[in-house]
Amino acid sequence: MRKITLLILHCSATREGEDYTVEDIDRWHARRGFGKRGIHIGYHYVVYRDGSLHTGRPLEDEGAHTLHHNAHSIGICYIGGLDRNGRPADTRTPAQKAALLQLLSDLKKRFPHAIICGHNTFSDKDCPCFDAVGEYRRLQPDPPPAGG
Ligand SMILES: [Zn+2]
Repeated sequence: MRKITLLILHCSATREGEDYTVEDIDRWHARRGFGKRGIHIGYHYVVYRDGSLHTGRPLEDEGAHTLHHNAHSIGICYIGGLDRNGRPADTRTPAQKAALLQLLSDLKKRFPHAIICGHNTFSDKDCPCFDAVGEYRRLQPDPPPAGG
């Protein structure tokens, strides 16, 4: 297994109320030239609007989701992140919030030193459109990394 130091949250940057699947994201990422061996999706996990958890790229494989931080991270994406007008918004359903919290709790058991953060911790993007560091602070006794 790779050394994992970061659990990085993302949104799919799709509109509130719209459903997309791992297969959709796989197609989008194939077009961007991500992946190999028939697996293009850059995220390791995707949480659908109904709260169901789906696997993307195998955890053992480096993802394609956060520039300069893929080698040692796990990429987690929820479906949504834009309001109905296409503006960045926290569109997580209660089921998605619960599923993300459960997933992160489980991953912290397996990778206790990994730090939870958002894509926007490392870039000036809005993704994942909520304050991941603040929201999951109680899961991580260690201070979050400096942004940049
Ligand atoms: Zn992102």
